[in-house]
Amino acid sequence: MQLQRRVPSRYAVFLAAFVVCAITLLVVTIRPAAKYRSVPLQWLRLAELASLEPIDVHTHVFEANPDLVRMLERWHMHVLDIMYIDHATPILASAECERQAALQFARSSMGHVRLCTTFDPYRVNDPDFSKSTVDQLNRDFASGAVAVKIWKNVGMEIRNGSDQFLMPDDPIFESIHTDIAQHHKTLITHSAEPDAAWTGTGIYSAYYSENPQWNMFQKPAAPSKAAILRARDHVLVSHPDLRVIGAHFGSMEDHLEDVATHLNLYPNFAVDTAARMPSLMTQPRDKVRAFILHYQDRILYGTDLTFYQGSLGKNAGEDHRLSPTVWRNRYAAEWRYLATSDTFDYFGMRVTGLDLPRSVLKKIYHDNAVRWVWGVNAN
Ligand SMILES: [Zn+2]
Repeated sequence: MQLQRRVPSRYAVFLAAFVVCAITLLVVTIRPAAKYRSVPLQWLRLAELASLEPIDVHTHVFEANPDLVRMLERWHMHVLDIMYIDHATPILASAECERQAALQFARSSMGHVRLCTTFDPYRVNDPDFSKSTVDQLNRDFASGAVAVKIWKNVGMEIRNGSDQFLMPDDPIFESIHTDIAQHHKTLITHSAEPDAAWTGTGIYSAYYSENPQWNMFQKPAAPSKAAILRARDHVLVSHPDLRVIGAHFGSMEDHLEDVATHLNLYPNFAVDTAARMPSLMTQPRDKVRAFILHYQDRILYGTDLTFYQGSLGKNAGEDHRLSPTVWRNRYAAEWRYLATSDTFDYFGMRVTGLDLPRSVLKKIYHDNAVRWVWGVNAN
C-alpha cells in the first residue's frame, strides 16, 4: 500500500497557530506573576519604606560593623547614633571611647550615620564642668555632631554638690543649653522613665526588676516622675529657641493626652517613638491613630536599636550587638504597624496596624527628622 502524504488542512494550520499564540501569551503573562509571587510580602513592604529615605533618630552604635552598614544601605535607612554616658557599662563609661567608636561607625557608613554627642554629667561637681563641656560640644559640632543627648541619669541617679538629685534644669546646664541653641543643634532629652519605674507595674515592669538601679519605688528620696518632667519643661520655657526632642514620647507614652498638652504648650518640643511602640499598641487603635494624625508634624520615628558590647555587674557579658537581621525585622514590624491594616503578632501582642496615609508616614519617617535635627541627612 502506498503511503499517502497527508497534507495538513487549513483548519489544522489555524489550530496549530492558535495553540502557539495561546502558549506564548500564557508564558508572557505567567512569568512576571511567578516572579512577583517569589518576592515575600515583607520585602515589598520594606521597599516601600525604603522609598521614603527613612531616618531612625534613635540608635546606639559604638562599633563599626560593615554588615550593619550594608543593611542600612540596602533599605536606604539613615540613623542618628546617640551617645550617652552610663557608668554601669564599660564602653559607655568613657565619653572618649564612645565618641571614637561612634565616629568610626559614622565614617564607615557612606553617609548613612550622623552623630548625636553627649556630655559627662558624672563630672558635674568638677569646677570646670560648664566651660569644658561647652568646649567639647563645640569640638563635636565641628566633627559633624548634629545633636546633643541628656540622659535619664540626670534626674534619677546623679547628685549635685549639695547631695541633691541633679535635675535637667539645674543652673549648671544653662550655658550648655545656650551653646546648643546658638549652634542650631538639637537637644534630645531622655528625662524620667515609664510610670513602671515608680509604680512597679505595667508592660515595662520586668525591666525594673532586672535593672534595680532605675527602680525608683525602692528609692524614697528620689524625685517623683512629675518633678523630673517639670524640670525638663522648665528648659523648654527658658530656651524657646532650642529645639528639643523628648525621647520615648517624652516619657509620657501611656498618656497621649499629656503628650498632646506638651506639644500644644511648647512649640520647640517634638517627640520620638523609640522603644515605646508597645505602649501605642496597648491603647485604643482609633485614639492612637487620631493622635498621630493630629500631631503628624511633631513625631519622629526612632527605635533604640543598639550595637555595642555588654555591661558590668548583673548584666556582665550581656551583648547589645543586635544583628542586622534583628534591626531589619524591627523596621519591618514597625512599618507594618504604622503603614498597613494587617492584624499580626508583635512581641506576643495581637495588634492591628494603623494604616496611616503615605503623606503622614513620610513626615514621621523623614521630613520631621530633617526639620527638627538640622543636618541629620546632610552628606
Ligand atoms: Zn536610647
